Amino acid sequence: MQKRTLDQMAVRGRRVLVRVDFNVPIADGAIGDDTRIRAALPTIRAILAGGGKAILTSHLGRPKGVANPAFTLRPAADRLRELLEAPVHFVEHTGGPVDPAHRRAVDALGDGEAIVLENTRFHPGETKNDPALATELASFADLYVNDAFGTCHRAHASTEGVARQVAETGMGFLLAREIAYLSRLLDKPAKPYVAALGGAKVSDKIGVIENLLDRVDALLVGGAMSYTFLKALGRQTGASRVEEDRLGDARTLYRKADGKIRLPIDHVTAPAFDNEAPRQIVSGAIPEGEMGLDIGPETVATYAQAIREARTIVWNGPMGVFEMPNFARGTLAMAEALDEATRRGGLTIVGGGDSVAAVSQAGYAERISHVSTGGGAMLEFLEGKTLPGVAALQDA
Ligand code: AMP
Repeated sequence: MQKRTLDQMAVRGRRVLVRVDFNVPIADGAIGDDTRIRAALPTIRAILAGGGKAILTSHLGRPKGVANPAFTLRPAADRLRELLEAPVHFVEHTGGPVDPAHRRAVDALGDGEAIVLENTRFHPGETKNDPALATELASFADLYVNDAFGTCHRAHASTEGVARQVAETGMGFLLAREIAYLSRLLDKPAKPYVAALGGAKVSDKIGVIENLLDRVDALLVGGAMSYTFLKALGRQTGASRVEEDRLGDARTLYRKADGKIRLPIDHVTAPAFDNEAPRQIVSGAIPEGEMGLDIGPETVATYAQAIREARTIVWNGPMGVFEMPNFARGTLAMAEALDEATRRGGLTIVGGGDSVAAVSQAGYAERISHVSTGGGAMLEFLEGKTLPGVAALQDA
């Protein structure tokens, strides 16, 4: 069912509570990467330009239900003010999102102004989806808009509970864009359709693989999870990282996939988990004591070709230990192949921290069809699960 979006809501003179994702990296009070704040700008600008009042709520880090100045949203509010060049209020206090100081500030808010409420996770009720907290948050709002895709897979007070208690609710532009793009990966995707999955664990991706298998033409597996598959098939994986308790699952999935799951044919290995460890390229069996830390050049070539020839491509998870430059090649090569696929008219979608970092680092972020702001949320969406934060919003 299609959800209502912000452009279908009348905001003039009204208090619009917006769940944003301002969970940005902050060190010594300074914001490292403000991508998430920028991503929320279209929604916030539309509310302010429409004469509404924007009341922004977000979490930051994991303060575990207590007020902790190390997790204050003040730096995010300051950055937002610079970016918007509009009045953005922030009230110093320790009471979490529903402090009386907030109520006074929200009551005093003029049309076309914004306020950033303090970290929702300063309140223990946030992650418990406490109805009392949701009711208090709802009392700040005539309208509720969710624009925090990255947290929509969590039923928290500021994502799910509050949406059930505000009369009029809908999706912000960022959330709407995420849902529109990701839906194209499940609903009649243009063929050939290729999924590339990497990262540490098979266990995180079993649901996604199961849900995508019937839809894709090929599923390219890389990263440490490929060694669990290879070992499950009886190959030698040396000292590579393997999930021993998932060998059975991996074997079952591989059989079910009927040839669609593709595994690395060569590897960049080293005797230690260290960027400076001596590297070698190994085809087939990985010797005793060596660990696979990246996909090898032959694998890169075949995976890249499959991606270039596809019309729909989704990628989540690094192909190797991307954090170490000597084992980042496979991951960067995927970013390059996606860029080429996009230029050939393919639909390309990337999600997950390392994969997104790879496309950004390689300078392709602007050229990929869609770079998702959600890692966990994207995976749950691809598993076919209902995201509670989206489900709680009203239908169009
Ligand atoms: P995930 O959080 O599941 O996306 O996994 C990301 C992590 O997997 C990164 O920290 C990578 O360093 C790690 N990773 C990827 N490939 C390998 C590998 N071959 N061996 C060990 N760790 C890996």
